[in-house]
Amino acid sequence: APSRRFFVLGNWKMNVNASRIESLSRLLSEVKLDRKTEFVVGCPSCYLSHARSLLPSHVAVAAQNCYKVARGNFSGEVSPAMVQECGAEWIILGHPERRTIFGETDDLIAQKVTHALSAGAKVVACVVERAEDRESQLTEAALARQMQALAPAVTDWSRVVLAFEALWASGTGVLATPSQVQEVLYMLREWLRLNVGSHVAETTRIIYAGSVSAATCQELASLDDLDGFLVGSAALKPDLVSIVNARH
Ligand code: PEP
Repeated sequence: APSRRFFVLGNWKMNVNASRIESLSRLLSEVKLDRKTEFVVGCPSCYLSHARSLLPSHVAVAAQNCYKVARGNFSGEVSPAMVQECGAEWIILGHPERRTIFGETDDLIAQKVTHALSAGAKVVACVVERAEDRESQLTEAALARQMQALAPAVTDWSRVVLAFEALWASGTGVLATPSQVQEVLYMLREWLRLNVGSHVAETTRIIYAGSVSAATCQELASLDDLDGFLVGSAALKPDLVSIVNARH
């Protein structure tokens, strides 16, 4: 909807090194990016400062994870305050890879969201639909379970973007149709309306993730309840520029 600013997060995951960040940042500095789009790049923690120093100032940087407290004996973890000091304005939490590969639970993700917001960060909070949810028509129940854990953890919805990831359409070659995407985004907005409030439902950006590419973004960008994209593999390619500009 026009009142919600279009939001694109290109997540580099663990697929970049210093020189790749240099070439991707050069690309993003040279092309025309629609400034009406809020554009964020998800960067490995150790390269946040590097990316921040190379990207155009209107492109924000996101960490891809963080821990649920500010400091302490938690080897290998980084806190929201630390990633913010390295240039990350945003933090991705509950990414499906964190959930499935690293076993993060709804409860842990909720605690991370509360702490990240209290530390002043902005959060892209992910909820996930698995293939088996869809096959057994349990999508609504699966999303409600994740939202029930997430929503009470959100102390400031104005700093949260909700990302819906169709896991069955991510890196699988199976594409979600626009009507499948719209149906779930509507479901999530209705969940917010009924369980949080109509203002939050109307103002919160809900973005879609799952094999979004230059070829598919335009058709999806016009969906009523879609406010942008979370992009994985296409974030490593010039495709990302078309996706940022998908509302042209
Ligand atoms: C993702 O894993 O969050 C993702 C959206 O990846 P892709 O765009 O490659 O499906």
